[in-house]
Amino acid sequence: MLKIIDRNISLNPYESCPCGSDKKFKFCCFKKAKQFLREENTYRTFNDSRLQNLLKTNWRETDFKICFAENDDCKGNIKSAHSIQNNRILNRISEEGHVYNIEASVINSSVKPKFNKISKNKASTFFGFCDYHDTEIFKPIEQNTYENTEQQNFLLAYRAFFVAYHKVIRKMSILRNAFKKYPSSLLDPQAIIMYRTAQLDMKDDELECELLKNNFNNQNFSTIESFVYVLNYEINFAVSSYFTISKDMRNNTLHDIYNLDEDIVIPGVFINVFPVEGKTNIVISYNKYIDNNYKVLFAQLRDSTEEELLDYLSYTIFNCTEDLYFRPSSIEALNEHQKNSMIESYTSFLSPFNEMALIINGMHFEFNLFKL
Ligand SMILES: [Zn+2]
Ligand SMILES: [Zn+2]
Repeated sequence: MLKIIDRNISLNPYESCPCGSDKKFKFCCFKKAKQFLREENTYRTFNDSRLQNLLKTNWRETDFKICFAENDDCKGNIKSAHSIQNNRILNRISEEGHVYNIEASVINSSVKPKFNKISKNKASTFFGFCDYHDTEIFKPIEQNTYENTEQQNFLLAYRAFFVAYHKVIRKMSILRNAFKKYPSSLLDPQAIIMYRTAQLDMKDDELECELLKNNFNNQNFSTIESFVYVLNYEINFAVSSYFTISKDMRNNTLHDIYNLDEDIVIPGVFINVFPVEGKTNIVISYNKYIDNNYKVLFAQLRDSTEEELLDYLSYTIFNCTEDLYFRPSSIEALNEHQKNSMIESYTSFLSPFNEMALIINGMHFEFNLFKL
């Protein structure tokens, strides 16, 4: 175990340089890294709004256009498409054309989450498909109402995955750019752990991507196992995402997300939760051909009461994804305690100690997403 940790928190001189040059680390940034090791940390002199700008620019610089369907049929521009339906779902939760999400903000020189009001036209958009494929692939979920068909469940999963995958690639670019700008971070174990995590995310997602594309091309929709639950009321948020769930409903470990061993595949689940006329659809899926662990979780989901299910999902969704959009009045109606609890709980999964402190102070998860 220790060996694995050792190997993973420093760079091997002969591995590809994290800056993305395709050269070996030893012959690329290694020298620079040593040279810059003593350089002053310039961030300290920046004020919040300058850091905020930097954060935004760094993220914007990583955006890229791709058609994940990539075949000969690609036609038209790669447009900024919604991962959550604009006309049916975002329209339902928006007010005066706006929704809320939670975004990283710089507060007192550190990055903290914050509620942010954005135009619904910008919510959940990404550049992942050409005009032709965006229209053709998703017709069964865009044009027909949701009826829990195998094909619809597959397509919901398919789109949720590519939104997440696009972000994973961008997160790797952010790191590459940071290594280029601050070569001394190549010798910082903290930064290397972030890099290793990003590498593993890329590797796992590449595998999932291959399988999804093959299954889509063969119209083999039964490779996805789905749990579907319908609430008889409309909720005030929508989510479409793909992420790893580490604990099941009984708090047993499903996947060790802190394991940096590259031989282990850590797959995710596809989650879509969205209100429709008078109802809410919850669609959760996983790829049966990558993973067996989720079988246990899915059996628990089926056996649970509505209350248990919503408690578990509220916690899991809120902890695992940023692809969440809220009805503005549902956030504005919260009192300060609930708002703070949401913001503080949002980051608590990063640090178990922080989570303990929140529990002690009665700030931890003093809300339920489904009851906002
Ligand atoms: Zn390099
Ligand atoms: Zn295309």
